[in-house]
Amino acid sequence: MPFDKRIFEAAQERLAKRRSENKRVEDLRRIEIHGKIPEYGELERRLADTMSEIFSAIANKKANSEEIVSKAMSDNMEIQKKMGDLLEQNGYPRDYPDPVYTCQKCRDKGTADGKWCECFNRLLNTVAAEELNARSPLRLSTFESFNINHYSDKEKASKASPMTQREAMYNNYRECVNFAENFNGKGMGLLMIGDTGLGKTHLSLAAANRIIERGFCVIYDSAPEILRRIDKEQFGRADGDTMQLILDCDLLILDDLGSEPPKNERYISTLYEIINARQSRLLPMIINTNLKGDEIKERYSDRLFSRLLSMEVLLFCGNDYRLNSSL
Ligand SMILES: [Zn+2]
Repeated sequence: MPFDKRIFEAAQERLAKRRSENKRVEDLRRIEIHGKIPEYGELERRLADTMSEIFSAIANKKANSEEIVSKAMSDNMEIQKKMGDLLEQNGYPRDYPDPVYTCQKCRDKGTADGKWCECFNRLLNTVAAEELNARSPLRLSTFESFNINHYSDKEKASKASPMTQREAMYNNYRECVNFAENFNGKGMGLLMIGDTGLGKTHLSLAAANRIIERGFCVIYDSAPEILRRIDKEQFGRADGDTMQLILDCDLLILDDLGSEPPKNERYISTLYEIINARQSRLLPMIINTNLKGDEIKERYSDRLFSRLLSMEVLLFCGNDYRLNSSL
């Protein structure tokens, strides 16, 4: 996908940082090994000597060079084996001093087989997602700051429910924690339904934070904002490729579905396109809405409605705690 130069340069910078951090790890490991296993350094020097013997025998073309090379090669193998044994005897894996790479495929160069490596595409997506998320209060909500005591332990979650509001909300909280902890980039995701101020955004952002910490690319934005931006880009009034980014990120969080202007056919078809494309590739989403089930059905097409209901539905209940000054 096309990224602007700034995002591209930021991703390159991160790749360079990754290389220098890995180099630092390698250096520290070498220092550690040399400190703990003094014989190791001596073996390294002997290993280097065998290499120069091989090179000079080949370069000088002496009569017995074949013999010298073969002897040096066998010494070389033997020394390498000894070095490996020494590491193991001291509790290190045999490859401990080897170069450290975050991505084995491209060895952190960012390209493999003449193409950009997946790891670099991932970095591009992450940087672009961070730009998009910069405006959202992503950092403010965590699972730890979610207060279950905001919910009544006396009032029922609904008329038919055997649970109190607090119990029902605790279940929702657990579902969100499990979702974030077990997130692997595949699945349908969560549909959170409930009135304003019941904690849908808080729990979505808490999940987003945890999933970002675990190294996934997450995009969070309100449905009207995303739809407006895509519309502008599609009609050439803004640069960027928000659509591609939200189709490709590991987790898309659409907040406040239903607060976009109603009866806008373009918005409805874009929404369907996003939800359908992600679901058919099993890419998870969290979608929040203040609309009730029948309102969703009324507002969107049947096919969009059934797409939404194929997600795990969490019903939020309680009283808008932002209006209650005593809490
Ligand atoms: Zn790579």
